[in-house]
Order: sequence, then structure tokens, then C-alpha cells
Amino acid sequence: MTRKKRVLVFEAHGDDMEFTCGGTVAKFTDRGHEVHLCVATDNDKGSFELSAEELRAARDREVQGAARVLGVAGVTCLGYPDGELMEKAPLHVLRGQFMRLIRQLKADVIFTWDPFTPYEGHPDHRQVAWAAHEAASFAHLPLYCPEHLKEGLEPHYVSERWFFAKSPRDVNKYVDITDYIDRKLEALFQHESQMVLTVADAQFGLRASGLDVPALANLDPHDYRQVIAEQVKGIARAVGRAAGYEYAEGFRRERFGGIERIVGQTAEEDI
Ligand SMILES: [Zn+2]
Repeated sequence: MTRKKRVLVFEAHGDDMEFTCGGTVAKFTDRGHEVHLCVATDNDKGSFELSAEELRAARDREVQGAARVLGVAGVTCLGYPDGELMEKAPLHVLRGQFMRLIRQLKADVIFTWDPFTPYEGHPDHRQVAWAAHEAASFAHLPLYCPEHLKEGLEPHYVSERWFFAKSPRDVNKYVDITDYIDRKLEALFQHESQMVLTVADAQFGLRASGLDVPALANLDPHDYRQVIAEQVKGIARAVGRAAGYEYAEGFRRERFGGIERIVGQTAEEDI
């Protein structure tokens, strides 16, 4: 049995974790590793039908519900306005907040968006990616954010960074989630407001394209379960095909500052 790890997921929006690594998180928690989640924004722009206030209330309920499904031990919501992270949370500020969490929780592993991937269109994802990557890189250096040490925290080394792979080209770690695809979907379905948004958004594209898909065009977005399940399973099946799994999630993983490559040995795997 491998050593129990502390895992910290940094996401921009309430459903980022479930879409990108929900199956992997469930697998980690099932194996006794402790997973925490940090949500940077309050999701207050993700709807065609709810007010910003209603969305913020829904976000809290939905994030907690999904965290329970995946066995997440704790959730920290930073509450920045959705879509405004770059303006409201400058990089050095967000990096300091993430570093404090890493030091508080003594995180061995972080999951987040990939700062180096091209074609990342969402500014909140880019901001979270850079802040988390930098926080994880420097959290063991005592001269970064020395105020944390005055509060009684200690410098802490983050062993592994698992970046969400948006393209097959980026994947160097596949996780078999065949036994966890249903948990991933169950967690996603806790995000009612965001599932409705996902379907409604797809309908915009469909109408603009002039393509004829009556089953999607005529679907009430509140009846999202089947279409979301098909989409999520289709992606997980395509990722899995490359690794010989029925369903998988893919990551670009960096471990131990590249020491494995330098010394020509491979450390033990957790998953
Ligand atoms: Zn997002």
C-alpha cells in the first residue's frame, strides 16, 4: 500500500474538477488519500435564467453536493467574481492565497488547469493555472510569503502536479476510471445550474450552425442527464482508447521536480 497523500484541487469554477478529474478524485478518495478542493470564483455568470445572486447560492449547494459524492474532505471557496479573476485577483495575490492553502494542508499533490497548454480560452482557467503552478513551485521556499511562517505555517514541498490535459498530445498519465464513470456523472449532476447551462450553450451553437439535430434542438435543457452522460462518456472513452481502458481521464503530470529523469529511476505510483 502506498503512503496516504494529501491532494489539493485548484479550480476556477464549481464544475471544473468534475469534468476534468472527477473519476480520478473518486479513485484517490476511495484509496484513502485525502482530497481538498479550492474554488476560486463564485460562478455568478454561468446561467441564462438565474440571477447572479441565485447562482451564487446554487454554486455553494452544488459544490458541496458534488464534493460529498466524490469523497472530498474539505472545500475552500475564495468567492471572486466569475470571469473577472485576472482583474480582481492579481497573480501574486492568488498565488499567495494558494500557497497558504498548500502550506496549511501540506498538500503532496495538486490538480489544476495547465498553464502551458495552448488554446485555453477562459481567462479564469489561465489565472488559476498560473497561480497554482507557481504556488506549488515555491511553497517549500521559506522566503516566499514569509508572513505565512509568522502565522506558524511551515514551508512545504509539493511532490506532484497533475494538469488537466485538454489535448491528447499533452497526456503523459492516464487514469483508468471505468469503475468511477458513474460517480463522475453523479458528481456532475449535482451541478444542476451548470448542466442546464452546458446544454443551453450547445443549443446556441446548434442554431447558429444550421445543423439538424432535433433531439438536441428540442431538448429542455433541464433534461440534461442523457446528453451530458453521452458527452462525458464519449470523451472518457476516447481518452481511454489510447491507454487500453474503457474510460479514462488524461493528465500532463510533473513529479518531484523532474528528479526521476535525472537519476534514471521511477518512483512508486499512487493510482
Ligand atoms: Zn471553468
